[in-house]
Amino acid sequence: MASGIENILALRGDPPRDSASYDRASDAFQYAEQLVKFLKERSSRNGGRGFGIGVAGFPEGHPDTPNRLKEMDYFKQKIDAGADYICTQLFFDNRDFYDFRERCELAGIHVPIIAGIMPVSTKNGFVRMAELSLGSRFPAKLLRAVGRAADDTATARVGLHWATEQCRDLLDNQVRGIHFYTLNKSDATRQVFENLGVSSSRALQGQGSKD
Ligand SMILES: Cc1cc2nc3c(=O)[nH]c(=O)nc-3n(C[C@H](O)[C@H](O)[C@H](O)COP(=O)(O)OP(=O)(O)OC[C@H]3O[C@@H](n4cnc5c(N)ncnc54)[C@H](O)[C@@H]3O)c2cc1C
Repeated sequence: MASGIENILALRGDPPRDSASYDRASDAFQYAEQLVKFLKERSSRNGGRGFGIGVAGFPEGHPDTPNRLKEMDYFKQKIDAGADYICTQLFFDNRDFYDFRERCELAGIHVPIIAGIMPVSTKNGFVRMAELSLGSRFPAKLLRAVGRAADDTATARVGLHWATEQCRDLLDNQVRGIHFYTLNKSDATRQVFENLGVSSSRALQGQGSKD
C-alpha cells in the first residue's frame, strides 16, 4: 500500500468505560465482520498488493455470545468476509487453544491462528488481566502458584515460568505465531525469549511453524 500499512487487526472493540449514553446501534459497524468486509474491499484497490487483515479469536468463547455453536457461525462469517489470520485472546491453558484450533478446522476455517500470551507480572496485574480478558479461565494450578508468591518479584517469576512453558509447548505443537500482550512491559517477553534460548522471533521460525 502507498501508506506503507501491511496489516490491520480489525476489531469491533469494547464499549467505552463510564459511558452510559453509548449506543452500539448508532455505530457504523455493529460487528467486526462488517469492518473486515469494508477493509477487504479497499485492500487491493488500484492494483496494490493490499494489506493483511487480522481478526480476534476467543479460545474460551466471547462473553456476548454464550451459545458457542452460534458463536462459531458468526466467527466463520467474519473469516469468510476476508480475514487472513486470527489473533487470539490471552489464555493460560494451552488445551483451550488446541481445542479452539480444532473447532476452527471443523468449521472450515484454515487461516493461521496466532496465540495470545500474557505473562503475569504482579498480583494487581493479574486482577486487571481478568478484567481485560472477560471469559478467560484462570487454572487452579496458576492461582495456587500466584497465591503462594511472597511479593511481586516472586509473582513475576511465577508468571514468567508459566508463560515460557506455554510458549515452549505451543512451539512444539506447530503454533503459527505468538502474540505477546505486553501492556507496555516488554521485559517479560524478552525474558521468555531468553528462557527459550532464542534471540529473536526469526530464531523461532522452523521450530514450531510449518512455514
Ligand atoms: C488480539 C486482541 C486485541 C484486542 N485489542 C483491543 C483493543 O485494542 N481495544 C478494544 O477495545 N478491544 C480490544 N480487544 C477486545 C475486543 O475488541 C472485544 O472483545 C470485543 O468485544 C469483540 O471484538 P471482535 O472484533 O471479536 O468483535 P466481533 O467479531 O464483532 O464479535 C463480538 C461479539 O458479537 C458476536 N457477533 C458477531 N457477529 C454477530 C451477528 N451477526 N449477530 C449477533 N452477534 C454477533 C460475536 O459472537 C461476539 O460475541 C482485543 C481482543 C483481542 C483478541
